[in-house]
Amino acid sequence: MSADLFTIADAPSLSDAEATLKSVFGYDAFRGQQSSVITAVLQGHDVLAVLPTGGGKSLCYQIPAILRPGLGIVISPLIALMSDQVQALEARGVRAAKLDSTQNLGERNDIWDAARGGQLDLLYLSPEAFNQPFVLDRLRRMKVNLVAIDEAHCISQWGHDFRPEYRTLGQVKALFPSVPTLALTATADAHTRADIKAALHIDDAVEIVSTFDRPNLSLRFVRRKGTVAKSIIELIAKQKGASGIIYCGSRDGTEKLAETLRKEGFSAAAYHAGLPAKMREERLTAFLGGKSKIMVATIAFGMGINKADVRFVIHADPPSSMEAYWQEVGRAGRDGNPASGVCFYNSGDLGWALRRMTLRENEGTPDQSIQKQKARDFFQMVLGQDCRKQAVRSYFGEEGINPCGTCDNCLTRGKSSDVTEPAQMLMSALYRLNGPRGRKKLIDHVLGKANGPDFTTRVQTFGIAKAYTPNVLTHALDLCEAYGVIEETLWQEKMPIVGLRDPALLKSLFRGDLRLIAPALR
Ligand code: ADP
Ligand code: ZN
Repeated sequence: MSADLFTIADAPSLSDAEATLKSVFGYDAFRGQQSSVITAVLQGHDVLAVLPTGGGKSLCYQIPAILRPGLGIVISPLIALMSDQVQALEARGVRAAKLDSTQNLGERNDIWDAARGGQLDLLYLSPEAFNQPFVLDRLRRMKVNLVAIDEAHCISQWGHDFRPEYRTLGQVKALFPSVPTLALTATADAHTRADIKAALHIDDAVEIVSTFDRPNLSLRFVRRKGTVAKSIIELIAKQKGASGIIYCGSRDGTEKLAETLRKEGFSAAAYHAGLPAKMREERLTAFLGGKSKIMVATIAFGMGINKADVRFVIHADPPSSMEAYWQEVGRAGRDGNPASGVCFYNSGDLGWALRRMTLRENEGTPDQSIQKQKARDFFQMVLGQDCRKQAVRSYFGEEGINPCGTCDNCLTRGKSSDVTEPAQMLMSALYRLNGPRGRKKLIDHVLGKANGPDFTTRVQTFGIAKAYTPNVLTHALDLCEAYGVIEETLWQEKMPIVGLRDPALLKSLFRGDLRLIAPALR
């Protein structure tokens, strides 16, 4: 509690906050959980707030920082976002500044002078800047009224975007013990939330988790057939003037797809971390201003992107966690008008994601087993038959959610395929073939197809699943991977093969305890 800053009678109230909302920002009412967050901060509590992307997290710290005497510190990982916010605040007459590596000594000194002289309401810092000893030393001697930590999930190994530079933010509470710490994020499951509180030493923080519902967003998952570019063009042909984001798994992929789209008459640009900063900035500005309609991007694009009229988010390649998916697809339809999220996927995508995590481990990143499980969890949802929003929202800890009625799985309600039996057949074959196989070889084997007689045609499981279509067998095999029964490796460093992974899970599949249910398949 920050009792030293005010007596209770002095403390600004929610009606003061509402007045500021109107007079400074021009809005009539708080949205969603904004008022609960602001009230808790004004009362001096530490707060962990999980608000959906576009939910208006910035106001949650801007208004208390303006109202409370002293300086509000905001730690955010994105320099571009900080610049935008500072400019927008200054335009509204709020005294805000940011400190980052692009500024020269003179500029920095001016900012410090202003802060010391009580002429600043808000100071934005990157975590790296915050961690510098002389910065901490100066801040400690100021009257700080609030420390806001944006994208707070970056401090947690359980989060989907752990950033080592966030680690040192664990000192915040010790440095500013009597000041409310406000941790904000758009995505954090219960485990990540507990982890954030522990890492920031704000165990008593008020937890405010808003609903993850996005009623205007319709979701769909599509297995890739042929080139994804062709499917995407078909998908967006009817909305040529609409703004959209297309996520690709590789830099090269973004450039190729953007080029293909341009040839088809779409206004599209690529965006990834390998492009020069100036080019990225230009493309971002063109997109935000509506001059360029489609951003074909890697995940380097997005955190903090504030564009309300994005009509579609397409994943040309799937993300590898529910958190990443929800954050990315959540950039569509922030204006509340109908918007869609379509995610393409195929066999091999999960294997690829898992191998990249192993690679990172080999390069010295700490154990990735949590991230790997997140990837499997996500693909269980992708390949499964539950309502998409129900699946996402219950993943984030919401209870008692009704099916959305608009997602692909809801639209085929009542129709699903239990693929446990074909999965058991595939697994027996894998067991009897005594070693990993390519997906196609394995499926051909259980279908009884062979390129001439070899030992595999004499194995009992040859032709065992003739009654099923290749489509059903493919989906069943993918589900086995998502549930961790099998895993994909590379044969001779290039050819993906699948092999048995976890004997306990295999047993549970054979016993029928693990049932694999897919959407209706033909
Ligand atoms: P987040 O950081 O949660 O993604 P922002 O803080 O960038 O979201 O806010 C998203 C948009 O919503 C901004 O344009 C912001 O000005 C607007 N906004 C925030 N709160 C309100 C409100 N109470 N009423 C109307 N618009 C709001
Ligand atoms: Zn649904």
